[in-house]
Amino acid sequence: MGHGPASSPPAHAGRPPGFVRLAGTVLPLASVRRDRAQLAHLFRKARAEDSCAYCLCRPRRDLRLVIRVRDGRHHLAGWPGEGHEHAADCEFHKLTPDLSGRSGYVEGAIVERPDALSVRLNQPLTLRLTGAAPPSAAPGGPAVEARRGVGLLGLTHLLFEIAGLNHGTPAARRTIWSSCHRRISSHLPHITVSGEPLETVLYVVPPFRRDSATATREALDAFVERLVPGPRLARHGLVLGEVKEIGPARYGLQTTLRHFPRRLYLDDALHSRLTRSYPRALSATAAASREARQVGLFVVTRSPGGHLTVVDGAFMLTTRRYLPADSLHEVTMADALTARGLRFHKPLRYDGAAVFPDFVISNAGSDPVYVEVYGVRGREGYDLRRRRKQEFYRTSGIPVIAWTVAEPLPSLPDPAPDEER
Ligand SMILES: [Zn+2]
Repeated sequence: MGHGPASSPPAHAGRPPGFVRLAGTVLPLASVRRDRAQLAHLFRKARAEDSCAYCLCRPRRDLRLVIRVRDGRHHLAGWPGEGHEHAADCEFHKLTPDLSGRSGYVEGAIVERPDALSVRLNQPLTLRLTGAAPPSAAPGGPAVEARRGVGLLGLTHLLFEIAGLNHGTPAARRTIWSSCHRRISSHLPHITVSGEPLETVLYVVPPFRRDSATATREALDAFVERLVPGPRLARHGLVLGEVKEIGPARYGLQTTLRHFPRRLYLDDALHSRLTRSYPRALSATAAASREARQVGLFVVTRSPGGHLTVVDGAFMLTTRRYLPADSLHEVTMADALTARGLRFHKPLRYDGAAVFPDFVISNAGSDPVYVEVYGVRGREGYDLRRRRKQEFYRTSGIPVIAWTVAEPLPSLPDPAPDEER
């Protein structure tokens, strides 16, 4: 197995795309994914002997891949901090660390090792019911220089980033919610938030499937059961899902999520605050758009009546294929880049206010090409930031495609043929 002609790269072409090495055996990544059960012995051998697998996307340079096990199934993931070393057309390719909001926290807020990722969350996950005053969330706002803890938007961005969902690729045209659920879930066993296993704290809404409906219902019941307050302590849970609708309830409002059988209730004051904090993602035009989706991360408690009540949340606008975007114009641009066959990343800000390019194309020449979507003009702060950005790009010699949204979409470059190896 693994040595047959079907899985060995042809010698004359060097290394074709999408090959990995597992315990000395070269295999196409697609077949590693498809046949992971049959290849379990190779995964185990690679873990024991090399402590990793290797991606062969670069000539003369083997890049380590993390081997993970979840429910007895093996997965490959990029090695922390090495994503940008992969070839532009490799699916493990990531932006350089300076183009991620992850760099905006103090040391220790997010600690990533190959086998574990720990996150210090701003949001308290337990609430003391007696004795000392309840812990409160650290103050947010862009004025904080380096953030001590990760907020809810930061955690949402982190999950989408590690799952590679901010990476526009030809394959990403087929992303559906079940892909998001599978890719995010595969990372959960290795993540802790404020010392607790994220797998226990977070419920990523699973896609509805008739054949697993009972198991799904039981998992949800167990998640809700965990939120039943004890005599001294109440627990908060996190729910990540796609918003279907936020509408009026008997008291306040209720959120309906896709694939999720329960309602999430929130009061008017919280709804107003969230609408102010996430004006683009929660706008009426975003809700009505057929091109966009709204993804929410909710902090919930269980009411005495057994209802799920929202105490806080974060919202993110995405394309129909769940690629994050900051505005509907960015959704339009992301769709145009995808239709053109370009590979690109959406830099994610996390909780910070860092100024990143809106998109970065990785396969339109030898250097990355930045894409800027310039929206509303006439707001002083915005115009100033835009001028600074343009000046920076000019002096750094970074190629930029700019779209001022009042004008037609600019012409986009041709995608380079996938790299020769
Ligand atoms: Zn690679």
